[in-house]
Amino acid sequence: MVVINFFRDLLGFRKNSPYVKNYLNDANIRSSIYMAFIIVVLEIWLIIRQTTEYIIPDWDNAMLTQNAFQYVFSYISYYLLFIVVGASMFLFALFYYNNKLYKKAEFITNIITASISILWIFFLIPQDLGKTTIDKFTTVFLYSLLPLMGSLIISHSIYKRLKNKNNTYLAISIIVVFAAVCLVFGIKFGYSDFISKSRPKMIICFLTMILFVACLLIWKPYISIIILTTIFVIFSNMLKNYSTLEEGNRIFLDGDEINYITFLISLTMVTISVYQQRVTEALKDERLIHDAVFDDLSGIHNIKHFYSNINLHKELNNDYYNNKICLFINIFNFRTINDQKGFQIGDEFICNLAKKTTEIFKLDHVSRISDDHIVVLTSIDGFMDKIDILKEEVKKLSNGLFVQLKVGGCKPNNDESLNRTIDKARYACGLIKRNPEITYIEYDDKMDDRFKKRQYIMNHLEEAIEKEWIKPFYQPVVWSDTKELCGAEALARWIDPTYGFLSPADFIPLLEDVRLIHKLDEHIINMVCKNMRQALDENKTVVPVSINFSRLDFELMDVIQVLKNATEKYNINKDYIHVEITESALAYSIDILNNIITTLKKDGYAIWLDDFGSGYSSLNVLKDFMFDVIKIDMKFLSNFEKNERTKDILDCIIMLANRLGMKTLTEGVETKEEADFLNEIGCGRLQGYLFGKPFKLEEFEEKIENKELIVSKKIL
Ligand code: C2E
Ligand code: CA
Ligand code: CA
Repeated sequence: MVVINFFRDLLGFRKNSPYVKNYLNDANIRSSIYMAFIIVVLEIWLIIRQTTEYIIPDWDNAMLTQNAFQYVFSYISYYLLFIVVGASMFLFALFYYNNKLYKKAEFITNIITASISILWIFFLIPQDLGKTTIDKFTTVFLYSLLPLMGSLIISHSIYKRLKNKNNTYLAISIIVVFAAVCLVFGIKFGYSDFISKSRPKMIICFLTMILFVACLLIWKPYISIIILTTIFVIFSNMLKNYSTLEEGNRIFLDGDEINYITFLISLTMVTISVYQQRVTEALKDERLIHDAVFDDLSGIHNIKHFYSNINLHKELNNDYYNNKICLFINIFNFRTINDQKGFQIGDEFICNLAKKTTEIFKLDHVSRISDDHIVVLTSIDGFMDKIDILKEEVKKLSNGLFVQLKVGGCKPNNDESLNRTIDKARYACGLIKRNPEITYIEYDDKMDDRFKKRQYIMNHLEEAIEKEWIKPFYQPVVWSDTKELCGAEALARWIDPTYGFLSPADFIPLLEDVRLIHKLDEHIINMVCKNMRQALDENKTVVPVSINFSRLDFELMDVIQVLKNATEKYNINKDYIHVEITESALAYSIDILNNIITTLKKDGYAIWLDDFGSGYSSLNVLKDFMFDVIKIDMKFLSNFEKNERTKDILDCIIMLANRLGMKTLTEGVETKEEADFLNEIGCGRLQGYLFGKPFKLEEFEEKIENKELIVSKKIL
């Protein structure tokens, strides 16, 4: 079996993929450019030779005996034939490669080819047929090659016009005809030189043509073997026949035969090795292209291919977007799968989702853009039915876990980049994330303002940081017993020249969505240290500041280094910076965070647990980490008055924290009753509108200055 396979592969009986076929075909057309060029030059040289050797010396005589035009053509018609064939091939190959040139130049090629073919058939063949040295059949065959090639070139361009694409079969046929022309040319001139009295045994022309066809063009090995053997058999037989007919110095010796066979064998080996090498190259290329076009995880097209493919369609058809809609597909709660079943199952889910989507949107463009997000460009007709089918599939794939299909749609148009259309579809999709009743929503004008604001925020983040439109506001944190100031929380605010005051709700979730949040947080860290340094230099009282870190910060930047850089640059004592990490962050990336938190603590930063009680893994988090302070989420206080149990829960949480050796802070304190109660149950720190909203730096400092906020002696 191994041996059979070896020979099957060696002789080229293995079926090649369309890509490899195209690759070899393209390589052939490329080689044909050079071959055709050389043939044209060679023929011109032969015409010049013929003219100086026969036509000019015999000119007077010719004028006397026959029509001068016919006289000239009887000498150079063969050469002209090959010039035309070579030139057509050359032009064809050239235009085949250049799509833009193609449109303009194929017309010229067609006209030239057609007119010369007609000239050939009606004028030169009949007048030359009588004087041929080879038999009539070969001559007719030889002459018919040109019109054949001409008609192939013309039908190729017509086909291309009709179908709007390259036709490889016609290209292959043109090459085959071209190769045949070369071989016939080689035989004819090799033979005529052999029998000529003045230049016996000049068969270099024959050998050159064989080398051209066999080595520059790539055939499957078994085809090369057939071509070479046939041509050699025909040619050596012609020579043998001649030498038995005519005696004298033009004999075909045994030695010649051996030379021919050796040459045939070595040439065959060369062609096989060239073929194998090209196929290996093509396969390597194919793999590279595959990787560039397909998504690693799901195996469906990647987004780059999505864009380029659609752009290609659009270039060919300006109305391509008519009746089309772009869909952004997202799986709500996808994280549950990763969390509960592990990443491998999560990946499998994405793979299956991608495959199902491609199956359902069979004739459309489908690509995975990131995570569990897939984009589709589909026809408006019936796309809702397809979404319904996909919804059912998602239900099946989810295996009982609560995940839901969410789809946002947006109609593309020529005035807007596809990228932006996808963004709009994504935006629309985000709006129905938390509504279990709705699966599909289409982007509309009403969403436009909010969407534009979002785009604005994304596009202006760098500028807002650079120009300090984004800055920290400071919200007081007080001791619950004395109500004296013991710290502040830095909360980002964006004061924009166009949109005015932007609150974190406008930009934090968005920046997390697009994975740019670390830029903002790095900026806030720097600003906090900078503000603190300035206050210290001006001999103002400073209090420790807690800074909010997003879960993604730990993935997107080196938090330890960023903090180190800022505190060193502004020479800030690490005691004065607290790191706030939300409970949900810890639930998702426990491994990465574990190390970082340990290092941060070792470096001397206090670690505060933000939003305790807002998620569903609060107690777990307490088990795994030792926090300096737990910030209890203000949601607990939302119906403080009415619900007695709220108080009990708070009481227990604080007891629990004390037991674990962690300090407590409750945020969102708005009334005196709440503050009194929290003090009573032993919550150490309080934060909320009752003690002050987040203030601008100047305002915060002013309040300290005029003793509206009294800084406690006990700070840490
Ligand atoms: P958070 O860390 O829980 O911040 C507390 C939020 O509660 C702040 O909202 C604050 O203004 C608000 N707040 C304070 N006291 C009261 C009160 O008595 N009653 C009520 N109803 N609200 C109060 P803000 O500033 O809008 O920030 C919202 C969230 O945005 C923050 O929640 C935090 O998660 C995030 N955030 C803010 N600044 C940054 C930042 O620089 N980086 C990161 N990564 N996130 C930030
Ligand atoms: Ca916070
Ligand atoms: Ca909080």
